[in-house]
Amino acid sequence: MTNTPLVNDLIRVCGEAGVRHRRADLLVFEADGSADGSPEKVLPLAICLPTSTEQVAGCVKVARKYGVPVIARGAGTGLSGGAVPLAEGIIISLTRMDRILDVNLAERTALVEPGLINLDLSTHIKADRFFFAPDPSSQKASTIGGNIAENAGGPHCLKYGVTTNHILGVEFVLPNGDVVWLDSNQTGYGGLDLTAAIVGSEGMFGIVTRAKVLLTPIPESISVMLAAFASMDDAAQAVTEIIASGTMPSSLEIMDSLSMQAVEAAYHVGYPTEAAAVLLVEVDGHPLEVAEISAEVEALCRRIGVVQYRQSYDPVEQAGLWLGRKMSLAAMGRLAPNYYLQDAVVPRSQLVKTLDEVARLSNESGLLVSNVFHAGDGNLHPLILFDRRETGAVERVLHLNHDLVVACVELGGTLSGEHGIGSEKRDHMDLIYNESDLRAMAGLKRSFDPDDAFNPGKVLPKGMLCGEVKDLHMQRMAQKYGIVAF
Ligand SMILES: Cc1cc2nc3c(=O)[nH]c(=O)nc-3n(C[C@H](O)[C@H](O)[C@H](O)COP(=O)(O)OP(=O)(O)OC[C@H]3O[C@@H](n4cnc5c(N)ncnc54)[C@H](O)[C@@H]3O)c2cc1C
Repeated sequence: MTNTPLVNDLIRVCGEAGVRHRRADLLVFEADGSADGSPEKVLPLAICLPTSTEQVAGCVKVARKYGVPVIARGAGTGLSGGAVPLAEGIIISLTRMDRILDVNLAERTALVEPGLINLDLSTHIKADRFFFAPDPSSQKASTIGGNIAENAGGPHCLKYGVTTNHILGVEFVLPNGDVVWLDSNQTGYGGLDLTAAIVGSEGMFGIVTRAKVLLTPIPESISVMLAAFASMDDAAQAVTEIIASGTMPSSLEIMDSLSMQAVEAAYHVGYPTEAAAVLLVEVDGHPLEVAEISAEVEALCRRIGVVQYRQSYDPVEQAGLWLGRKMSLAAMGRLAPNYYLQDAVVPRSQLVKTLDEVARLSNESGLLVSNVFHAGDGNLHPLILFDRRETGAVERVLHLNHDLVVACVELGGTLSGEHGIGSEKRDHMDLIYNESDLRAMAGLKRSFDPDDAFNPGKVLPKGMLCGEVKDLHMQRMAQKYGIVAF
């Protein structure tokens, strides 16, 4: 097979080993963790695997020469279709740029490449008693570049803040191939804070090639508590009351009985599957403070009524309790061949009402929904379980997903807590933003990427970047009811 001129130019930049273009190789890059939610996916033209910033910039310039889109990619664990190509273009995979370039304990910072796996950084600095605080449950696989692009969260972000709070600066390849260094304003005012704009920009503004990240000291003492409740309402009520009491655990996570069943079948961690829900609470800090807050949490949970309560200071036992939570998505195959995961957020005071609504909509649809989520942030993760081989299953799932999103928005919530908008939630953006809001976002995108060459088709509803904005809600209604003009 003869290479296309595009592929030959990319090989000149990255070398033979740094470019994939055979169909079998391309297929792997057609999807991300949200495969079931990305029906629009398109096969990329080539995959570049650069090893330096210069090579990334070179690939971008080649893409511009041929007028094809660029999609940055980390580990491909994204859950909103972010790294899925929607138009024929090149994918720049950053996984070979995975070095820790510098650790400066005096400044509590590290300089890393974007393909570094999240957990590898914490493992590297553990002996010095530091860690990188953003801890998505995918941290064994997802990259820091992907975490930056999605502004990833995780169980411990309740206390420590999400990725944006831990990024001090980035080296960035702009859509015209220029390389810039941008500092954040976290430690003083240094002009416009473009780093803040780049964190969470979902690969639409350019490519992160290096990041200066903040390191956090490992707390002196950690206590993990497991409170099992007879109803999901009780577990959610406990979360609302813990937050209202003014104490600040480092994480507050809920799992329902369905997800515990999956986890127990896969990992046997000892969760009480007979309970309707468990609340996993972690408290960290000075030993005296930890003991005091843990006692307050226990008293509060017991007042609401627990069916089982465990507390552990033992790191091995704690790791076991966390293993089930962190691996819960991987265990879902025990319940159904496919799942569709959504990550809407609701005000924490609305948790009980929202979870009742999730249960009602699940019953109405006849589809099982399992819940495992960052309860302290109000960040739901209803997992709709299904078998895509059943006729009409995908349509029923998308319908239920839509109803769940609308319910969360009506209860004062928003579309995403951490997984981003990508292609999956793009057409729900008008539920929370009006046309002026969306135009402002489109303006920012255009100022970085006037030709819409980077990750086109993501986040902003179709038409936003070429000026043909229509009433999206009306469009959706027209589609739903088969109206051709209105
Ligand atoms: C089991 C499981 C658990 C998860 N748990 C969590 C969780 O607790 N919290 C959470 O927030 N997310 C979670 N996720 C979602 C996902 O892991 C995160 O969104 C993660 O940040 C994606 O990183 P990645 O390296 O896989 O990025 P990818 O999926 O490869 O890409 C994601 C987006 O980032 C862009 N991108 C990637 N690298 C760069 C770069 N260098 N420069 C510019 N743009 C770039 C891509 O274009 C794409 O838009 C989970 C996913 C799975 C499968």
